[in-house]
Amino acid sequence: MKQLKSLVEFDLSGKTVFVRSDFNVPLDNNGKITDDTRILASMPTINYALNKGATVLVTSHLGRPEEGFYDESLSLAPVVKKLEKLTDKKIRLIKNWSDKKLKFSSGELVVLENCRFNVGEMGNNFELADKMSQMFDIYVNDAFGTAHRKEATTSKLALLKKSRCAGFLFLKEVDALTKALKNPKKPLLAILGGAKVSSKLNLLFSLVGSVDYLIVGGGIANTFLKSQGVEVGKSIHERELIKTANEILDLASLKNVEMPLPTDVIVAESPKSLKTVRLTKVDSIQKEEMILDFGPQTLQTLKDLVKKSNTIIWNGPLGLFEIDEFAGGTNEIAQEIGLSHAYSVIGGGDTISAINKFNVKDDIDYISTGGGAFLEFLKDSNLPAIDALMGRD
Ligand code: ADP
Ligand code: MG
Repeated sequence: MKQLKSLVEFDLSGKTVFVRSDFNVPLDNNGKITDDTRILASMPTINYALNKGATVLVTSHLGRPEEGFYDESLSLAPVVKKLEKLTDKKIRLIKNWSDKKLKFSSGELVVLENCRFNVGEMGNNFELADKMSQMFDIYVNDAFGTAHRKEATTSKLALLKKSRCAGFLFLKEVDALTKALKNPKKPLLAILGGAKVSSKLNLLFSLVGSVDYLIVGGGIANTFLKSQGVEVGKSIHERELIKTANEILDLASLKNVEMPLPTDVIVAESPKSLKTVRLTKVDSIQKEEMILDFGPQTLQTLKDLVKKSNTIIWNGPLGLFEIDEFAGGTNEIAQEIGLSHAYSVIGGGDTISAINKFNVKDDIDYISTGGGAFLEFLKDSNLPAIDALMGRD
């Protein structure tokens, strides 16, 4: 891939720099930030621009507000508070910024309110992007988490501004994923699990083309079992994708990709009825039961694949890891990856919670902050925001 430009290639002194960050942080009912990872990850770019003497205008989306309406619960105000602590500066938060002629003092850090309040943001509107582009000199995209979306601040605005580049976090994400996918040290193992079956299953078609081993877990594994005629009872799975699952299995065998399906599993009548938890071979699951984790025989097979791999990409827990009775599979695989010398890249909100819970975070080479963008990049590295930074519409 042609190189993305970096901030270090620009003279920032006295310039006004627009940074599209990803401050889409989880908030509790009182509007308190419950995880500030994304804000912390955005700081290197913001601090660098400030230190080089730029005036910095930073914005982000937060949630999915209705465009044209101010919704206090999705305001960036909590983010501003956090940024004030981190930078030790007083920071202005500006509403309706796309319609105003704004004045900034030199070297100031300003937060422009949730960009999805602006009419035309999600629709990648030209007029909106054109107005925004008058406000500054240099465009920086540091929001890898929304790189798979074509919106005014991630796409059209970048295309309109000739002085444009990726921020440090964005570059780090692209480098790590490129290393894992485009030029991996073989054998390459991909692990795909979790609950979002329909959005993830199609991704397997492209993964099968590039990996040596493929492990499926969670609702994805259940869909494959069902496609093999296994009774999966009440397990989460996607009925409409059973045919697709069969096609993926055929493709995997054609490409000599090792893709073991579970042979034994932990089931229960529901995640809460812990009295009904039992270990069973996959051929004797009852109609009223659901698969909630893998059994020891399956885990041994999967751990052997982890041991043989030199690059590992992981998205999606293998079982319902939030409940101890069903956490074993995800935990054991996480520990095995932690011990492995392979280059490991992990993405996905719940997968990151899992590796935090099981204390293997420090043994992972790269943890991606971008959930959806991470998955899309695995499918196709030409994300809309990357295209825009390269000048391609
Ligand atoms: P990520 O956020 O990492 O992309 P997902 O959102 O797709 O992952 O899925 C995570 C959720 O999937 C977790 O809450 C986990 O408990 C659930 N899960 C995994 N396996 C199962 C299963 N067999 N049955 C029900 N839920 C499962
Ligand atoms: Mg999730």
